[in-house]
Amino acid sequence: MSLFTGLEHIVRENEPLAPYTSLRIGGVAEYFVEPTTVDELCEVVRRCEVQGVTMRLIGGGSNVLVRDEGVAGVVLHLSAPAFSHLMIDGELVTVGGGVSLPHFVSATVRENLAGAHHLVGIPGTVGGALHGNSGAGGHDIGRWVVRATVVTRSGCQAIRESDALSFSYGSSSLNELAIVEATFRFPRDTAGDLTRRLQKLWIVKRAQQPTMADPCAYVFKNHAGELAGELIERAGLKGTQMGRVELFDRNPNFFIAHPGAKAADVLRLIELVRTQVHDRLSLDLALSLDLW
Ligand SMILES: Cc1cc2nc3c(=O)[nH]c(=O)nc-3n(C[C@H](O)[C@H](O)[C@H](O)COP(=O)(O)OP(=O)(O)OC[C@H]3O[C@@H](n4cnc5c(N)ncnc54)[C@H](O)[C@@H]3O)c2cc1C
Repeated sequence: MSLFTGLEHIVRENEPLAPYTSLRIGGVAEYFVEPTTVDELCEVVRRCEVQGVTMRLIGGGSNVLVRDEGVAGVVLHLSAPAFSHLMIDGELVTVGGGVSLPHFVSATVRENLAGAHHLVGIPGTVGGALHGNSGAGGHDIGRWVVRATVVTRSGCQAIRESDALSFSYGSSSLNELAIVEATFRFPRDTAGDLTRRLQKLWIVKRAQQPTMADPCAYVFKNHAGELAGELIERAGLKGTQMGRVELFDRNPNFFIAHPGAKAADVLRLIELVRTQVHDRLSLDLALSLDLW
């Protein structure tokens, strides 16, 4: 039996990954797998585990740089309806790991549930946001989690309750292969102006970051409470370019990829920024972006 016997309908070979990332660059996945059910996902994972095939999962691709040479093994993508549901029951919101974060934010605000509105303007999926505990202004997604359903690297489904989870800036203990569903509890807004607050946050955010249409990435983590963009600016790097990739002028922690850009340009620019910040400010910036 080959690796994907009986599962050929969900597998594509040598799939270009660029369209699945916000930078829109990078090579192919040897195998790109879009399971249609959680059982199918578990089956693929078990087979890969037995045969020693490398597995990765891509969500919205807004925090991943795929190298130009592509990636060996399997890249999983939770695009099927089985991972795209969203149900609201009072203050509880249960959502598939593949649901887009902007959709999740607007659905909760429509129901007058407060909390997720702080995540306005962050691209990606709910699963990706939970994996890295995404957030803004000290409001991270992890604080509202009640439980998450995951698929482990050995292909088992498991439930993780909030008291067994920990979240900190830019990371979470939810580092399983796949977060397939999560339940959140948000307090009902009593002030009654949630939509207006969301709009205000969105206006501020939009002024500080590239548009969703710009191929870009948010590259470094903030350092000891200081914004990475401000540190890069203080190091005198504003306007720096490497090949077809440049630092966004309004916040140089965003890299903008112009047509013809290569992942190698991004890697060289990362190296340059890290070295210069280290030399000029005596501190080491940590990557937020996942390098594949
Ligand atoms: C314009 C722009 C603005 C941004 N602003 C912010 C911001 O304000 N705050 C912030 O925190 N981040 C920000 N980011 C970074 C990024 O959008 C977030 O980290 C986002 O939550 C990543 O989600 P994703 O689905 O795109 O993850 P991906 O990029 O697809 O993946 C990132 C990591 O998460 C893992 N992953 C993805 N989905 C799952 C899943 N279902 N189960 C398990 N693991 C999974 C992947 O394997 C990978 O390791 C920004 C990025 C851009 C481009």
